[in-house]
Amino acid sequence: MQDVTSAASVSAGRGREPGPAPAPVAAPGDLLHRLRQRHTTDPVTHVERVPPRAGTPAPWPRWAPEELRSAYARRGVTAPWQHQAEAADLAHDRRHVVVATGTASGKSLAYQLPALATLLADPRATVLYLAPTKALAADQLRAVAELDIEGVRPACYDGDTPRAEREWIRRHSRFVLTNPDMLHHGILPGHAQWSGFLRRLRYVVVDECHVYRGVFGSHVAHVLRRLRRQCARYGDPAGPTFVLASATSGDPAATAGRLIGLPVVAVTEDTSPRAGLTFALWEPPLLPADRPAPAPAPRRDPDVPRPGAHPSRPTHPLSDATPDALAPGAEAVPELADLTQVRRSALRETADLLADIVAAGVRTLAFVRSRRGAEVVATSARRSLDEAVPGLGARVAAYRAGYLREERRELERALLHGDLLGLASTNALELGVDLVGLDAVLICGYPGTRASLWQQAGRAGRSGQEALAVLVARDDPLDTYLVHHPDALFGAPVEATVLDPANPYVLGPQLACAASEAPLTVADLELFGDSAKETVEALVEAGALRQRPTGWYWRHRERPEVDLRGEGGAPVCVVEAATGRLLGTVDGGSSHFLLHPGAVYLHQGVSYVVDTLDLDDGCALVHPEEPDWSTHARDVTSLSVVSVRSYVDAGPVGLFLGEVDVTSQVVSYQRRRIATGEVIDTRPLDLPARELRTVAVWFTLSPESLVAAGVEPADGPGALHAAEHAAIGLLPLLATCDRWDIGGLSTAMHPDTEAPTVFVYDGHPGGAGFAERAYGTAAAWLKATRDAISECGCESGCPSCVQSPKCGNGNNPLSKPGAVRVLDVVLDNLPQ
Ligand SMILES: [Zn+2]
Ligand SMILES: [Zn+2]
Repeated sequence: MQDVTSAASVSAGRGREPGPAPAPVAAPGDLLHRLRQRHTTDPVTHVERVPPRAGTPAPWPRWAPEELRSAYARRGVTAPWQHQAEAADLAHDRRHVVVATGTASGKSLAYQLPALATLLADPRATVLYLAPTKALAADQLRAVAELDIEGVRPACYDGDTPRAEREWIRRHSRFVLTNPDMLHHGILPGHAQWSGFLRRLRYVVVDECHVYRGVFGSHVAHVLRRLRRQCARYGDPAGPTFVLASATSGDPAATAGRLIGLPVVAVTEDTSPRAGLTFALWEPPLLPADRPAPAPAPRRDPDVPRPGAHPSRPTHPLSDATPDALAPGAEAVPELADLTQVRRSALRETADLLADIVAAGVRTLAFVRSRRGAEVVATSARRSLDEAVPGLGARVAAYRAGYLREERRELERALLHGDLLGLASTNALELGVDLVGLDAVLICGYPGTRASLWQQAGRAGRSGQEALAVLVARDDPLDTYLVHHPDALFGAPVEATVLDPANPYVLGPQLACAASEAPLTVADLELFGDSAKETVEALVEAGALRQRPTGWYWRHRERPEVDLRGEGGAPVCVVEAATGRLLGTVDGGSSHFLLHPGAVYLHQGVSYVVDTLDLDDGCALVHPEEPDWSTHARDVTSLSVVSVRSYVDAGPVGLFLGEVDVTSQVVSYQRRRIATGEVIDTRPLDLPARELRTVAVWFTLSPESLVAAGVEPADGPGALHAAEHAAIGLLPLLATCDRWDIGGLSTAMHPDTEAPTVFVYDGHPGGAGFAERAYGTAAAWLKATRDAISECGCESGCPSCVQSPKCGNGNNPLSKPGAVRVLDVVLDNLPQ
């Protein structure tokens, strides 16, 4: 098995001077064939050939005015594709519609067409366009402005809009482009100034609506309800027509309907043309057994009983809290812990593939989840190439977010002309850089959603030429599952965007905002959902609202302070003690895990050690230091069931959805040698416990059913714990969340359920919809979990199946075979 560098495989080019870009030498199939020779075992688990597709054009809708048709013709669009025409027709008929088709399928035309036709037909009508980012709104502004339709006067209205221009826009623009944050903070509170615009509002476009998920999505859902309320107050009670654009996902109509609170029709058949693509799924090989073992759990003194050794006594629960600051892109990158892994790391594998493909003269973009990871890939690929052909390494670069516009243009130019052949980037590249003419894309680790995967893969392919995309699996249950179940990537989408507008932690603040904009009436409450009445009463109780005969009034002079994207408490500042320099912030929920005294904190590749954490001031003082150990916080978590919303009684198995209180306390941390993963010591910490009321899904099994399935009582805790880890890892398959959004807890005996239990909970106060989705799709979710574990080639559990990078118990105890038996019992009894 080859595990050094790719020098051998690129040595064919030795001695050649780097010249102009060689023409692509190989068809994707041949190139792939060459790449898979690098290991003794074939790392490719599946090759999907996505055939080229000719587009299906449709005639312009009869209602589309000539002026608009010729404006598009000037931009090179002679007819819409069929799905564009279909969606435009629905919107024109005033049906709310979501277009959920692939990247670059022309979703803009689907909403521009009815919106602009209406603006032309009715000189007073207005349109509001919402994008999740300012950059996207600016792009769309350019596109609409280029059509140059008279009297539309499109304009962006966001935090960057100069005060002097704002009034002009409110009065004169008929196509306003903004974002949900500005709608929430600026437009709705100032609705009186916008009354003319809102009265005449005919269309609301919600672009990239799959971004509105989880807690953020739940907030946006209410911002849209507040918008509908103001439109009804000033104008047509029927309100504007919503046109939404989404990446492909499971059940887009239901998700869009939940977002806007109205029934929505979905258009999902993509009729735009595309180039052919060869898409390979790549699993790095297992390392030989003589490599260092995976991150060893602390060795217990043999005299100390293992948890579960006394099955008659309830054992302490095993928890996996949710330090979400470690989300993708954060600085502490589990994937960099190279030497503690059982599989060859996805980063090294990607670096070698990048070197090989560049050596073949093929223009390649590698997507890596973290910035440090992108730099590691670029550096390592450069080194391999230079060893083979001195100077060739210079044709590989790393791209990071924050480049200036000129730098980005220079990069685009270098890649276009072949001075640069390989680029490693985070997905920051998804926005703002226009790269054309790429022949291959490497994706290092599943980017989290199918939408992102296809967006990244879609970067490859110039006109008429077949391109290559390779997904390199990371050492993680979801990645492993996906490369062995290609249907989950290439078949009908099952991953749904979830949000939960009923979350009381979102609904309460949003109702306060609504009341501060105009007193709430009984009729309004219906708009905000079933639990609005109850929540309004709680707000009265808390002194936020006052009830009068005419409605509920906001009692304060200032507006309620509600941040749509704020989660997990106030952020903690990380400050360099000697200089007072602010290095960055960590969200409150994660600060105990990442910034406890003694923690090693990485910032832009530089290592710091935390001296003090002052929770009252929200500040951690650090000093630069590069110790040869890493730190891993351990926590103790308990969970109590508050209420059960729904359950399935399946004989020896129970499945539940309900509210829970999670109490967790970071109590100690381990120092581990970076080189070997060896535990140096465990040090105590003195941090306060924290409470989280949230939504959980849980399953219970009778102790007898476990014994009957061959799970010895002593093995129970490890079996449940392993099943819990993998279940957390696989949930993103069904709901667009990150494993860092979810926590879990397993126990051989829980006082509230009086049975062996596995809990999986939303890591956000009040829930975010993930546990609810898990409950609704439990059979599919747990089946995928079971398969991911049983199909993993490791002997007794590894990060690809049952180990978790964020385990509060150092991945101990874990029983891989026990987890499969536990899940078999659940699946045998649960109704499908
Ligand atoms: Zn494994
Ligand atoms: Zn754990």
